[in-house]
Amino acid sequence: MTGNWFCEENTPGYSVQWRMLQLLHQETTPFQKLMIADLAEWGRTLILDGAVQYTEKDEFIYHEMMAHVPLMSHPNPKEVLIIGGGDGGTLREVLKHRQVTGVDMVEIDRRVVELSQTFLPGVAQGFSDDRVKLYIDDGIKFARETDKKYDIILVDSSDPVGPAIQLYSQAFYKDLYQALNEDGMLVAQSESPLFYPQIFDTVVSNLSGIFPLTRVYLAVVPTYVSGFWSFTAASKCYDPLQLSDDSDNIDGLKYYNRKIHQAAFALPQFIRERLG
Ligand code: SAM
Repeated sequence: MTGNWFCEENTPGYSVQWRMLQLLHQETTPFQKLMIADLAEWGRTLILDGAVQYTEKDEFIYHEMMAHVPLMSHPNPKEVLIIGGGDGGTLREVLKHRQVTGVDMVEIDRRVVELSQTFLPGVAQGFSDDRVKLYIDDGIKFARETDKKYDIILVDSSDPVGPAIQLYSQAFYKDLYQALNEDGMLVAQSESPLFYPQIFDTVVSNLSGIFPLTRVYLAVVPTYVSGFWSFTAASKCYDPLQLSDDSDNIDGLKYYNRKIHQAAFALPQFIRERLG
């Protein structure tokens, strides 16, 4: 931090500066350095280990695209598992689907949940829903040990540093494959193909080595490095590109709609070439 500016160092050659109106909270948890700040232009913002996780201004884009793409293409999504995502944004979107009967969330850091509830209640609003069970646990361990089967799994992880490193590994994805029903589907955030092409390649190749169908889709998330963000959907049965006829009509959306769903899978040439 310099003066009233928070500097997010993305690569050795690229940083972004955000003017900070107020530092609302900071602490070092057993897992990461956590900051909540009010940033000019962007509003309240969660920052973990120096990386902006989401801002009030544009969090809806990432959270809607992570949740609704798989939930709108699976015809009968009842049981959902979220790994990470302790801020509650993805959870809020999942709960908009009336077909969903249960959501298990596994977040390693209790403080992310508690502080999001205190400072960002508009995002962390789903935890009291009867359908939700929160586990404060390591998602790697949970995936290895669970006997339960899910229709949808969402890997809403932070960047691959600290406790999140293994959330990008093939061993973890194999455990998630086992935890999915025979027609289950998974979505993992797969970072910026422009700035972090190696991480993007790792997620895609690890998932496509396990699942019969893997598709990448994109969204513009202005606060993430380069604004150009990817998700990877991996499916045992249904094509994530296709909307199900049985999918819910969802109220209160700000980014996702059925046309965006299909357009998000149209990939620029350099990404198509990376995917081979
Ligand atoms: N997707 C957003 C982004 O990339 O900026 C952030 C999503 S959310 C804040 C990521 C969460 O994953 C964090 O709260 C972090 O504590 C949690 N997390 C990291 N490693 C984890 C693990 N091994 N098991 C469960 N949760 C984990």
